Amino acid sequence: MTNQLAQPESAYETAQSQLRSVAMMLDLDAGVTELLASPKRELTVRFPVRMDDGTTRVFTGYRVQHNEARGPVKGGLRYSPLVNLDEVRALAMWMTWKCAVVNIPYGGAKGGVTVDPRAISEAELERMTRRYAAEISIIIGPEKDIPAPDVGTDGRIMGWFMDTYSMMHGHSVPGVVTGKPVELGGSFGRIEATGRGVAYITAEACKRQRINLRGATVAVQGFGNVGSVTARLLAQSGAKVVAVSDSRGGIYNPNGLDIEDHYARRKEGGLLGDHPNHGVDHDDITNEDLLTLPVDILIPAALEGQITDQIASRVRCKMVVEAANGPTTAAGDTVLAERGIYVVPDILANAGGVVVSYFEWVQDLQSFFWEEKEVNSRLERIMVNAFNEVASMAEQRIVRLRQGAYIVALKRVVDAMKMRGIYP
Ligand code: GLU
Repeated sequence: MTNQLAQPESAYETAQSQLRSVAMMLDLDAGVTELLASPKRELTVRFPVRMDDGTTRVFTGYRVQHNEARGPVKGGLRYSPLVNLDEVRALAMWMTWKCAVVNIPYGGAKGGVTVDPRAISEAELERMTRRYAAEISIIIGPEKDIPAPDVGTDGRIMGWFMDTYSMMHGHSVPGVVTGKPVELGGSFGRIEATGRGVAYITAEACKRQRINLRGATVAVQGFGNVGSVTARLLAQSGAKVVAVSDSRGGIYNPNGLDIEDHYARRKEGGLLGDHPNHGVDHDDITNEDLLTLPVDILIPAALEGQITDQIASRVRCKMVVEAANGPTTAAGDTVLAERGIYVVPDILANAGGVVVSYFEWVQDLQSFFWEEKEVNSRLERIMVNAFNEVASMAEQRIVRLRQGAYIVALKRVVDAMKMRGIYP
């Protein structure tokens, strides 16, 4: 039953409830579960930035490290007015499972600043980034914790971050962040990696579910870096992308949208709603309408908490592929399960970004760079193997894909914790 008065479920609540349900299934030690249910280390920083008009503004930022049993911690930096400590905790926890599910040697972390990056100037954004980088540098480093882009951040910001850290250390340290421009030691294929990974995983999921991707209808919520690349690659594979949206709202054409055109316009900084043919070859829809369209594949690629129990009861797709982190609440997931809707969980579906971040870090540490073809084919191998491993685990345990992914990930993390033992 939906309680109309209930507070909306927070990302941290979703993450903890996902962990606890699988920990129970695996009969995990209570102490281990308690340790994994909260992050290992949390840093909150408040720092001043000189604004263009000469005033001083104080910003709040975070860096949270969830678990480092399997290696240095890894995860993005988010710039958004919605960033808060609980959200960063959830995102850090999901990074631990994500790295474990695709078996790359990292633990999970996340960071962010509570700011609307579009509401400050480029120079202010640079000064804010540099000061934030300096503030969190006490727990960051290529052998400790390696940030990357996330919502509201990009290669340019990673470049400033890398430069600031390098200035503080007196030499260039490219391996301190990933998602950098290629000119600064970034990897070919990193920008598209998350969307490319989502596309590989969607193709595998379609094979399992006997859905023909060619001609399948797709709705993508979010037309940022992840959503736009996903939509474009799926359209190139012959899928019919009928709806996409950005933060202002969405567009819908049941006969399919011209994704190449929208993709090219986005690269120029255009918003979906500003298209010259706006209202001619598609209808305007809200983000909520998009989630409940009759499509084969629904891809939430925006923010967490979108598919609540109420939305889940109205969703009309065969399959959800979670390209965003935490787009489905725990209550929403229960409803999707009851309704028999196949869900490919975020920690598997969107792991392509951190996989190519791992490749970037390896290339930086070795100062030896790969061609894009090699990056993409290694990415494909890792994503396809991870999907099959998770799907087999889910079949074997007779659970859903999300639980299957959590079981694979938790086993790896818990095994590493056990082998390392407890210090001292
Ligand atoms: N922010 C991305 C994520 O949520 C990438 C993290 C990384 O590359 O370290 O997976």
